[in-house]
Amino acid sequence: AREELFQAQKMEAIGQLTGGIAHDFNNLLMAILGSLEILKKRLPDDPSMMPLLDNAIQGADRGVALIQRMLAYSRRQDLDLAAVDIPSVVAGMMEFVQRSVGAAIQIQTDFEEGLPAVLTDAVQLETALLNLIVNARDATPNGGTITIGATRMQAQADLSEPRTPGLLRLSVSDTGEGMDEETLERAATPFFTTKGVGKGTGLGLSMVQGLVEQSGGKLLIESRKGEGTTISLLLPLAHPTASSQPSLEATPRQALP
Ligand code: ADP
Repeated sequence: AREELFQAQKMEAIGQLTGGIAHDFNNLLMAILGSLEILKKRLPDDPSMMPLLDNAIQGADRGVALIQRMLAYSRRQDLDLAAVDIPSVVAGMMEFVQRSVGAAIQIQTDFEEGLPAVLTDAVQLETALLNLIVNARDATPNGGTITIGATRMQAQADLSEPRTPGLLRLSVSDTGEGMDEETLERAATPFFTTKGVGKGTGLGLSMVQGLVEQSGGKLLIESRKGEGTTISLLLPLAHPTASSQPSLEATPRQALP
């Protein structure tokens, strides 16, 4: 619990730090961009100078776009919690998802019959799934299969948390290249990426983890180098049911620390 608290504080600090730096950086870049635009207009049309100026302007533009993303991330919105039916959310994304992973990757779904609704934010859940699917695609450059699955978890597998109303496990698995030990350990750390500058922000998995934990659930990452990866979102059910936790129906929900 101490470790978790530390982690939460670290996240909070990073959020404030990035928010503050991003804001100042944004203003600074705007001033640079403004000056460059003026220079571009006033300088005599020297063909050897223009490409340099254009480079500088493009660089500053990219900087602004990056900063905007960081600002959006540090401004963590409150969740709009509601009962969410996972198969309908996934069905609504399938066409877009299949198009964005390309023809070499097959997307399949594997949902248990009669899944109960979970309590989370539907819009953010969609963003989280997209993050996971993009990661799965990036890890599967030579083609393969991505499976989006969901099952009800057995009561005894429920996190050993007495107050959860039962959980559903939503997972995205791929047959891609997997992660080595070090990557696996650091994958959900904000800004950790193995994708190189300009390709990855390192914020995908930490966003997913933030959503899952704010919903009162837990993120599981399983991976084997050369075999593939499964990322699972354990999400609390929207309605405690008799079959999941008979004696705890009246107990108020509690977020994990
Ligand atoms: P980003 O995708 O921008 O790098 P993420 O936080 O989403 O940021 O992921 C962090 C790192 O975790 C990735 O750079 C990659 O090394 C690893 N990773 C995430 N998902 C997978 C996956 N499905 N297969 C292999 N590696 C993955």
